[in-house]
Amino acid sequence: MLDAYLMPGRDGLIIRHKQKGSLALAAELADVHVISAGDGTGEHPTQAVLDTKTIRDRLSELEETHVVFFGDIERGRTIHSTATLLATMGVKRMTFVAPHEEMRMREPYMFDNLRLAGVEVAETDELAGVAPDADVIYSVRTQYEFMLDPDYWRGKLTGKALITPDDMKDSEALIMHPLPEDQEDRNIDPALRRDPRCIVKEQAAWGEWTRMALLALQAGKSAMRTAELSGMKPDKPPLASV
Ligand code: ASP
Repeated sequence: MLDAYLMPGRDGLIIRHKQKGSLALAAELADVHVISAGDGTGEHPTQAVLDTKTIRDRLSELEETHVVFFGDIERGRTIHSTATLLATMGVKRMTFVAPHEEMRMREPYMFDNLRLAGVEVAETDELAGVAPDADVIYSVRTQYEFMLDPDYWRGKLTGKALITPDDMKDSEALIMHPLPEDQEDRNIDPALRRDPRCIVKEQAAWGEWTRMALLALQAGKSAMRTAELSGMKPDKPPLASV
């Protein structure tokens, strides 16, 4: 319905949806641009852009960078998109730390794709063991809203996905998080919040800039499409969705 109300090439849709795969479907069906703001436990591409920008800004040698993802690997959509984009940008080492069996990646396709892209992928359940060798530790909230029985799992998992000063005692890694943090199940110990290694605020700030850039790109393309619609180049195919 929304697509029917909008002007192809001039307007766009920014959609967040709870169902994995829904955004790919929307992009296929719509004539306007579709920007994904997250699809369930699937993907969150604009977060990947700001995460990658943050890491590139801090660590110029991406080929040498070891990125550790920590927490709900299975449902953390930002992990799925950020790992994929980082692989495209040259990161060659990634470790996925699921501190509980329930948080482990079930479908191996993401790991398979990363390996195909030349990434050395490791999996473990303990952060302290890999933190000293990490350049970035990227944590996510446990995504209870996507679990069948959130209350049950809160009882089991609370406190598991927490980065502590002890984990970080021999580590110089940068700490990142897409936010929000769950106030009842924190991911970054408050003692690390003002630590220079914790760059969450800087990361969030890049979100504004990268998304502005994305919208500007979209607007540029839209101007072109409007020209096409007004009869200048009517035979061009519809623009691909972002
Ligand atoms: N804001 C991020 C997302 O939309 C992370 C989160 O909600 O945990 O996926």
